[in-house]
Amino acid sequence: KLRNPHEVEFLQAVREVVNSLVPVLAHHPQYMKSCILERLVEPEKIISFRVSWVDDEGDVQINRGYRVQFNSALGPYKGGLRFHTTVNESIIKFLGFEQTFKNSLTGQPIGGGKGGSDFDPKGKTDLEIMRFCQSFMTELYNHIGPDTDVPAGDIGVNAREIGYMFGQYKKLRGAFEAGVLTGKGLEYGGSLARTEATGYGLVYFVREMLQDKGIGFEDKTVIVSGSGNVSIYAMEKAAEFGAKVVACSDSNGCIYDENGIDLNTVKELKESGDERISEYITKYPNAQYLDDCSNIWSIPCDIALPCATQNEIDEATAKTLVDNGVQAVGEGANMPSTQEAINLFLDNDIHFAPAKAANAGGVAVSSLEMAQNGSKLMWTFEEVDEKLKDIMKNIYQNSMQAASDYGSPGNLVAGANIAGFIKIADAMSAQGII
Ligand code: NDP
Repeated sequence: KLRNPHEVEFLQAVREVVNSLVPVLAHHPQYMKSCILERLVEPEKIISFRVSWVDDEGDVQINRGYRVQFNSALGPYKGGLRFHTTVNESIIKFLGFEQTFKNSLTGQPIGGGKGGSDFDPKGKTDLEIMRFCQSFMTELYNHIGPDTDVPAGDIGVNAREIGYMFGQYKKLRGAFEAGVLTGKGLEYGGSLARTEATGYGLVYFVREMLQDKGIGFEDKTVIVSGSGNVSIYAMEKAAEFGAKVVACSDSNGCIYDENGIDLNTVKELKESGDERISEYITKYPNAQYLDDCSNIWSIPCDIALPCATQNEIDEATAKTLVDNGVQAVGEGANMPSTQEAINLFLDNDIHFAPAKAANAGGVAVSSLEMAQNGSKLMWTFEEVDEKLKDIMKNIYQNSMQAASDYGSPGNLVAGANIAGFIKIADAMSAQGII
C-alpha cells in the first residue's frame, strides 16, 4: 500500500489473492523465506510511453501507452492490450497481476502481462485508428517478440487493431513473426475459435460448476452485461445450451427482451461500429431499453454473467441479484465484482465462478494460436473448441482440488488463487532469486 498509494484497483486485486494464500504460506515456509509473494506483487518491468498521432483534421493528439511485463516464470509475458479512456497504471497493473494467475491456471507455458492506452477508439475513423495503432507499435515493438512478450486484444482492441499493429511490427522488424501477437485475422496466422474463446470458455466453465450441483443451463434465465466480444459469445453458447438470455448492455444502457435477445441483431449493431444497444428496440419495440447500464442487475435471473468491465457489481447490486433469486454468477470480465459483492455471494451459497478461472478461455486459445504459429499449422474450429473445453474442465477441477486441499472446499475464489499461485511459486523458486 505504501509503495502503490493511489492504485486502488491494483491493491484490490492483490488483497483478494493474498487473503486466499494465508493457508498456503503457512504450509510452505520456503515460499515465505524466499519472499515469493513480495516478488510476485512487483511487476518485472513497467514500460510507459508517449503515443503521438495526427487526427483527420491535421491536429496532433497525445496519448499514454503502457506495457506491464508482470511475471515470466512460466513463459513469455502474455496478455491483452486495452484501449479505453479509463486506462491508467493501476488498471494495467491489476489486469497484469490477474493475468499472471489466470495464465498459470490454463496449464499453458505463458507468463503474465498487460498493456494499453487511454486512447478512446469511440467516434474515431478507420484511418485515425490505424495511425494511432502504428504510433503505439512504433514504441512497443522494442519490448515484444514471440519469445519475450506476446500481446493480444482486450476492451477496444479487436482483429482490426491487432491487424494494424501487426503490420507496423512487421515493417519495423523486417520479418514476418506471426507469434508476436494473438487475435490475428485468419488470413495471416490467427486461430479459429479465438474470437469465441472467452465467451464460450466462460459458459463451459459455468456448466462444469453447475453440473456438479445437478443443475444445467436448460430453461434458465440468463443476463449478460456488455455487448462486446466476451458478452456476444457467452450469450451465443448459453443459448445453445438451452438458456434464455433476456438482457445485455453497453456503457450507456441495457436492453431487456423477455422473449430472449435476438443475438444476430446485437451482432449487427456491434459490427456497424458506433451503434448503441438502444437501437435494438427500433427492431423489437416490445423490448425495453433502460438508461444506465447498471440497471441490468435489477432484472431477475437464474444466472448472471458480468462481461463488461471491472467493479460493475458492488455489494448493493449483489444483494439485488441475491434477493431476486440468482443461483449462479460467472465472471466473464476481469474483476467485475468488488470484494464485498463476492463475500455476499459466497455467504449466500451462490455458485460463484471467479474471473481468473472462468474467463481464461481467451488466453488459453491465444496460447494455442502461438502453438499453431510455431508449428506453421492451422487446426480446425472443432479441434480448438475441443481443446478449449478440456482446458476449462481442467481449470475447474484443479481449482476445486486446491480449494479442498487448503481448507476451503467448494470455494473457487480461493481454489483458483491457490492453484495459480503454487505453479508460479514453484517455477520462481526453481529459477532462483532474480
Ligand atoms: P469489448 O470492447 O469487445 O466490449 C466491452 C463491452 O463492455 C462493450 O459492450 C462496452 O460498451 C462495455 N463496457 C465497457 N466499459 C464499460 C463500462 N465502464 N460500463 C459498462 N459497460 C462497459 O471488450 P471485451 O468483450 O473484449 O472485454 C470485456 C471484459 O472481458 C473486460 O473486462 C476484459 O478485460 C475481459 N476479458 C476479455 C477477453 C477477451 O478475449 N476479449 C479475455 C478475458 C477477459 P461500450 O461499447 O458502450 O463501450
